[in-house]
Amino acid sequence: MPDDAASASSRLSVTRREALAAIGGAALAAPTGTGATAVAGDRPAPVLVRVYPGAVPLQARLRYGPDALRGDWPRPFGEALAAVESAFEQVLAYARERSRLEDLEVRVERGPAIRFPPSTTPLSADAVVPSLEGLLDRFRDRLRKRDAITDRSCHLLLRWSPLNYRVGYGGTVSPHALTGGPDGGGDAQSVANVGATEVWDSPAVTRNIAIHETLHTFLSSGVVADIGDAVCDHELGEAVRTAPDTVRVSPMATAYAGPDRIGGGTRFHGTGCYDHDRFYRHGGTDGVEHWTYTTELSEATLEGVTRYLERRFEG
Ligand SMILES: [Zn+2]
Repeated sequence: MPDDAASASSRLSVTRREALAAIGGAALAAPTGTGATAVAGDRPAPVLVRVYPGAVPLQARLRYGPDALRGDWPRPFGEALAAVESAFEQVLAYARERSRLEDLEVRVERGPAIRFPPSTTPLSADAVVPSLEGLLDRFRDRLRKRDAITDRSCHLLLRWSPLNYRVGYGGTVSPHALTGGPDGGGDAQSVANVGATEVWDSPAVTRNIAIHETLHTFLSSGVVADIGDAVCDHELGEAVRTAPDTVRVSPMATAYAGPDRIGGGTRFHGTGCYDHDRFYRHGGTDGVEHWTYTTELSEATLEGVTRYLERRFEG
């Protein structure tokens, strides 16, 4: 767990170093110093993706062996963090192969543990089964108190609530659903219910949902509409047949690729919009018995996130 995350971090910084080396090379090759200086001096502040571990009850930690009994990052949380890191590595590699986003740094960081105090109104429905809105409100309050709002950050809470049907697999809520906000500033908050994906599905679904709930905050409706005339973020994902009875699902299609019934792909189907005919690629669901998952982003998702970062953070 921490080892996986640490190696992912170092991979990310290698990518970053390579990018800096590439920019340095371009600066040396520039005929005058002005353009090169502007590149170096005007580099935008990094975009931050901060991932916060929530509380995990003892009985849940027991699933993961003695190492998980202490520390804030039991195995599924470490894997969720590493998955988010890998998603941005993919986006930046895609962009830089095309000489895009060369000056933009996206930093995926570990945030401190988030423990919510007991609700002051213990008999309210929200105290027993918090809604997604209620949970995100409390998360945002906590971030404000910690002075963690930067106007260029996505804050992802890893939650352990396997029975919370109101949060489901997670999500984000307007007006804090986009990193760098619709009015030119603002942080996004998102939740990935790792408890639900681990208990009802699998580690592969955990990894994809962590990516999914993060990338929602880097996909605006304008950007999504520009890509293949998509009407929602999920359509940028793909579900590809790898055998007659097997489908492989990418992160943005996860929880949306199967038929809308219990056990159709993931145990629970997402409640957001989806139309398989409109997905970037969808191999259909007839005769599918095996659902597999890949953290590899579809090309449509890579292009969408790249465009979003260009429009919001490079302008
Ligand atoms: Zn979604």
